[in-house]
Amino acid sequence: MRFCTVINCMDGRVQLPVISYLQRRFDVEYVDSISEAGPSLILSEQKDDVLIRSILNRLRISVENHKSVGIAVVGHHDCAGNPAPKSQQIIHIQKAVNFLRQQYENMEITGLWIDSNWEVHEIDEDS
Ligand SMILES: [Zn+2]
Repeated sequence: MRFCTVINCMDGRVQLPVISYLQRRFDVEYVDSISEAGPSLILSEQKDDVLIRSILNRLRISVENHKSVGIAVVGHHDCAGNPAPKSQQIIHIQKAVNFLRQQYENMEITGLWIDSNWEVHEIDEDS
């Protein structure tokens, strides 16, 4: 069994597109899901210690117990948890990815943007 991990938005519209994208992206059968409202904003601001610790605890379980092979963090169009425009959400996603890379230096960690057609786009560092 091969797992990866997503820190996804709770929004029901992004679940299936993100899971099927990540199954292909990391060549895994299973995608462990950590759901929050606007997770890339939460991880980029790091204001809520309790929530950050909760996310990192769940992430650790996926990495240690399921030997997750990669981590993704998500931002998307029309997000109730992060109503910022796309340009700002991209920055939040990049900051969230950088924060996660500090926690897991040897993991492959990527950011995803889900557009208004619910299509998945990978965010690289320079975009
Ligand atoms: Zn959302």
